[in-house]
Amino acid sequence: MSTKINRESFIRSIADLLRKAEIELPDDVVNALRKAEAAEKNQVAKSQLQAILKNLEIAKKYRVPMCQDTGIMIFFAEIGSEFQSSFDLEAAIREAVVLATAEIPLRPNAVDPLTRKNSGNNLGVGIPDIHWKIVPGNRLKITAAPKGAGSENMSVLRMFNPTETGSIKNFVLETVVNAGGMPCPPLTIGVGIGGSFDAAARLAKEALLEPLDVPMEGLEREIFEAVNALGIGCMGLGGSTTALAVRVKTAHCHTASLPVAVNIQCWANRHASVVFGGDE
Ligand code: SF4
Repeated sequence: MSTKINRESFIRSIADLLRKAEIELPDDVVNALRKAEAAEKNQVAKSQLQAILKNLEIAKKYRVPMCQDTGIMIFFAEIGSEFQSSFDLEAAIREAVVLATAEIPLRPNAVDPLTRKNSGNNLGVGIPDIHWKIVPGNRLKITAAPKGAGSENMSVLRMFNPTETGSIKNFVLETVVNAGGMPCPPLTIGVGIGGSFDAAARLAKEALLEPLDVPMEGLEREIFEAVNALGIGCMGLGGSTTALAVRVKTAHCHTASLPVAVNIQCWANRHASVVFGGDE
C-alpha cells in the first residue's frame, strides 16, 4: 500500500509540530518535573522547580515558547519503505522551519560557524539537522526536537580504551560536575555507548527522546543516583534534583574502540511527533 500526502498540508503540519514542541513539554517530562518538585526538600531548589512549572503553564496559556532559546531545529524522521510522496520532503521541512520561525516566532539561531553570520530564518548548511531512518511499513513519523545551546555546549564525547568500561559512570559524573548549573538542570542525560565516533553521539541524542516514565535499571539507575547525590540541583542552586532521568543507548562497536557520548539536556526536554500515512 502506498500513501500520498499533500505538500502544503505537510508544511503546515511540520510548522504546527514545531509550535507544539516549543510550547508544551511531553506529559512524561512534565510529570517528572512535578514529581521532582514534590520530593525536593531544599526550599530554594523547590521554588525553582515551581517557577519552571509555572513557566510551562504560562507558555501553554499564551501559546509562547517555554524558553527564549528556541534552539536549533533537529528532526528525527522514520520513513516507511512503502511511504510515497510526490514532493521533496526535506525541502518541505526546511520551508516549514522558515514558516515556524516567522509565525511562532522562533529566535533565529543558525549562524555560519566561522563568520558567525546569522541566516535570520533558522536555515543553514546542515540546519535543520534531519536524521532519516528507513523502517518497514507505510507511515512517516517525524519528531521535532529543538535543542538549546546551554545544554548542548556541556555535552562531551570521549574515545575510551576498550578495557575502560568501568570508567563510564565517572565520565558521566565528571561531565555533569563540569557543567554545573550552566545547562539549566534538572537534566535529562543521554548516554550513547558504542558505535563509532559519530554514532555514539547520535545514540546519546536519541536517548533524550526515550520516555522518562519507564523505570531506570542497571547503569542508568546507578548513574542517576550518583548524579543526584552531587547536590548541584535545580538551576545549580542545590538540592536533590540534578537529573530527572538518565537514558543509555548502546550499539556494537569495533573491538579496539569504546566511544562514549554524553548529551546533556536541560529541563526543557522539548520534543513532539507527528505521523503521516499508515493504515488507520
Ligand atoms: S539550556 Fe534549555 S532552559 Fe536553559 S536557556 Fe537553553 S534552552 Fe533554555
